[in-house]
Amino acid sequence: MENNCLFCKIVAKSIPAAVIYEDEFVLAFLDINPMTLGHTLVIPKIHAENILDLPDDQIDPFFQAVKKIVALLQERLELRGFTIGINHGKMSGQAIDHLHVHIVPRYEGDGGGSLHSVVKNPPQESLEEIQAKIIGK
Ligand code: 5GP
Ligand code: ZN
Repeated sequence: MENNCLFCKIVAKSIPAAVIYEDEFVLAFLDINPMTLGHTLVIPKIHAENILDLPDDQIDPFFQAVKKIVALLQERLELRGFTIGINHGKMSGQAIDHLHVHIVPRYEGDGGGSLHSVVKNPPQESLEEIQAKIIGK
């Protein structure tokens, strides 16, 4: 539990939330400002700022839970598509410094785009140059 972390307070039940799934490692609850009906946040119960901060042995239970919650939403809300994502770091728009996966149900005619509409800033460098930077060749 991190002092002054809103999502740690939700885990501790000192702030209420509309919880839809809970297990030993994970809590999932409806976003207070939903982009669409069923917009859900999945968080680890321990405080971790992002996936790099989440201990290795928690990665598997965390993403297993994401899968379960997508299945739950798909079945109960009769959904056919989702946008699933993480704002990782202030640069990307992360407002709450406790890891959370957004599961955003998508609906016919909801006016939204795909992940390709999030940012459009293609590089000048070739893919080979970028590959070399990343893998060090
Ligand atoms: P971020 O921009 O950090 O990826 O998203 C944070 C999300 O948390 C936002 O979608 C916001 O609506 C949601 N949120 C912020 N405060 C609360 C809260 O007190 N309760 C719930 N359920 N969601 C919250
Ligand atoms: Zn926290």
